[in-house]
Amino acid sequence: MNTTDYLAEVDRYSAHNYHPLPLVLERGEGAWVWDVEGNKYLDCLAAYSAINQGHCHPALVKAAKDQIDRLTLTSRAFHNDQMGPFLHELCDLTGYEKALPMNSGAEAVETAIKAVRRWGYRVKGIPSDQAEIIVCENNFHGRTTTIVSFSTEHSYNADFGPFTPGFEVIPYGDVKALEAAITPNTAAFMVEPLQGEGGVIVPPDGYLAQAADVCKSNNVLLVADEIQTGLGRTGKMFCSEWDGVKPDVMIVGKALSGGMYPVSAMLADDDVMSVFGPGDHGSTFGGNPLGAAIARAALRVLVDEKLPERALALGDWFMKELRDLDSPHVAEVRGRGLMVGVVIKEESGTARPFCEALMKKGILAKETHEQVVRFAPPLVVEKADLKWALEPIAEVLAATTRVA
Ligand SMILES: *Cc1c(COP(=O)(O)O)cnc(C)c1O
Repeated sequence: MNTTDYLAEVDRYSAHNYHPLPLVLERGEGAWVWDVEGNKYLDCLAAYSAINQGHCHPALVKAAKDQIDRLTLTSRAFHNDQMGPFLHELCDLTGYEKALPMNSGAEAVETAIKAVRRWGYRVKGIPSDQAEIIVCENNFHGRTTTIVSFSTEHSYNADFGPFTPGFEVIPYGDVKALEAAITPNTAAFMVEPLQGEGGVIVPPDGYLAQAADVCKSNNVLLVADEIQTGLGRTGKMFCSEWDGVKPDVMIVGKALSGGMYPVSAMLADDDVMSVFGPGDHGSTFGGNPLGAAIARAALRVLVDEKLPERALALGDWFMKELRDLDSPHVAEVRGRGLMVGVVIKEESGTARPFCEALMKKGILAKETHEQVVRFAPPLVVEKADLKWALEPIAEVLAATTRVA
């Protein structure tokens, strides 16, 4: 089968809930991927930051193969010899007392919503069924019916109602709005330290630190969704570190397994996590030994290969190079570490044709929110790879006529 055949098959049999670039990948190594025609591409999306450790990292492949031969799933009805060490290592890395393992990011967000609501009732004393969670405009926390209930993106929730109540939406980056939105029934403020899906939106300096202060003085839990920003992407192990903040609850996923298996977790100290008792919450696959073994290797790679430090150094340099291109189509280059957004001017059309043009030159980037081309390669990317990429990027961005 060639590319056309694969695309036709997907068109025929898949729900049309995505709009992928028209290429079919069959192999990956580090920051590079190959399609079924043998073409090679630099992956500048890294599966929305799930592949921070690079495609098919040998240490992860080995951990997966070793574990798959031994034991893959026990359910939580029994213990297994990988989950405890995994959670221990995750807590050591993050500084939290407890971790609750799930699979997808959305499940970990749902877990956090349950935890903070229950904390609101049982610890803070909010009247039954009155708990409120404050969230931000332009948020992305996943796709479940509860999570899309508080999305401000029309296509994420149109005609998926009725929605889950109990969420207040405020502008992102606005501490005053947070202060004003808090009521005696507010259990938590849930926020992305930097909005990835929202278009690589970097909040004002000190935003998270000020939000943390406001939360603290109002007895409101700060929940940081670090699913995309965490685990090295923004040049720190966690983006919250940029503000010197340790959130009350942290949610991680994506790169937690280096993209080899769905593994996510909610992290908190005992005062919050103790709201869960036996039977209150769970998942058949959550904490399974295969995912746990892979995640342990994924965390080791982040630390051993100093991937946050790499993201910081390469990201600063890469953003400067992109700004220096001085493209007539680019309104702004923004980001942190290797989460970089190139904002296309409205008069130059949308970001999509630029992504298609980049693909033809061997660079895979995906538009987010109409106007933004996101560059977020695996953190193992070499400086030489990014240097190579700058020329085709310059060609695409320098085009004097509209790319479309
Ligand atoms: C990707 C993402 C999620 C959802 O993760 P899934 O694994 O797709 O369910 C939640 N929050 C943020 C910030 C994300 O980037």
